[in-house]
Amino acid sequence: MKSKLFIIAFILSQVTFSQQVYTKTLKLMGSRFEITVVADSQKEGEHYVTLAVNEISRIEKLISSWDANSQTSAINAAAGIKPVKIDSELFNLIARALKLSKLTNGAFDISYASMDKIWKFDGSITEMPAEATIKKSVEKVGYQNIVLNKDTQTVFLKKAGMKIGFGAIGKGYAADKAKALLMEKGVTSGIINASGDMNTWGKQINGQDWNIAITNPLNKNKVFATFPIDNSAVVTSGNYEKFVILNNKRYSHIIDPRTGYPSTGVMSVTVFTKTAELADALATSVFVMGVPAGLDFINQLNGVECIIIDDNSAIHKSKNIDTKNKI
Ligand code: ADP
Ligand code: MG
Repeated sequence: MKSKLFIIAFILSQVTFSQQVYTKTLKLMGSRFEITVVADSQKEGEHYVTLAVNEISRIEKLISSWDANSQTSAINAAAGIKPVKIDSELFNLIARALKLSKLTNGAFDISYASMDKIWKFDGSITEMPAEATIKKSVEKVGYQNIVLNKDTQTVFLKKAGMKIGFGAIGKGYAADKAKALLMEKGVTSGIINASGDMNTWGKQINGQDWNIAITNPLNKNKVFATFPIDNSAVVTSGNYEKFVILNNKRYSHIIDPRTGYPSTGVMSVTVFTKTAELADALATSVFVMGVPAGLDFINQLNGVECIIIDDNSAIHKSKNIDTKNKI
């Protein structure tokens, strides 16, 4: 009996030792993705990464508003004209986005996209656009004007010039889908990191949870905190990458769809929950809501926690983030 146990233990240790962590960084959806898998060999690791990349590229083709041939572009082109029949995957994503708009009272809104013309975060804006211009920019914004028809699987943007975009939810969705696919293929453990939108599953080779590092918004090369994450998602939205500074005030690339003004006062929002899609959308929403309203909102949701760092570098945590950096 003893020797049998010994043999089993020996075999197990061989299995464990032959596993390795394989990580690849690459550009997808216009962003930096890092895909990590635990695999038996480098070859197997590479194979799994290729599967994930193909899945993410497939999603990009569906939701990109830059790609003129995507279904999303077809929806936008038909705004104010006619409903467009789309794949159930896109239909369901839009349906979930609309639910989030309702939940956030419109702070999150995929129809923000028609405002793209006035807010550019490439350094070209040097002064605050005129109030009238900003007011006009939100005329076409409003999730209430996105009409889904379940029976015909169509979506219709009621107003001409309306546009939808998945900038605040797409990377999270892609991370979730890549994770689901790899799990289905038998990958026991990994991390999909879509530029700070992360979803993990399984454990590290040493049996411990994956540790996720959160960037310090004051210095993006520095880590602010690390959290052990067990089969769930962490997403950070920060205004340290895309922003404009006007009259010494920092305006983020996250815009309040109700006013047309970029959000201010918040430097970064990190959301912890089961899926990266939800975390991604909520991080964007909390940015728009600001510190007190954002915290209050997150505290009302089950299974969702957040950390907000404000413009003065003060740290605000939702009520169930415990002091041992665990949620
Ligand atoms: P990032 O992916 O850059 O970290 P987010 O996930 O918060 O940041 O998404 C920001 C992007 O979402 C913006 O660049 C824009 O494309 C889009 N967006 C901006 N404001 C909103 C909003 N209020 N609701 C939905 N999408 C938004
Ligand atoms: Mg987001």
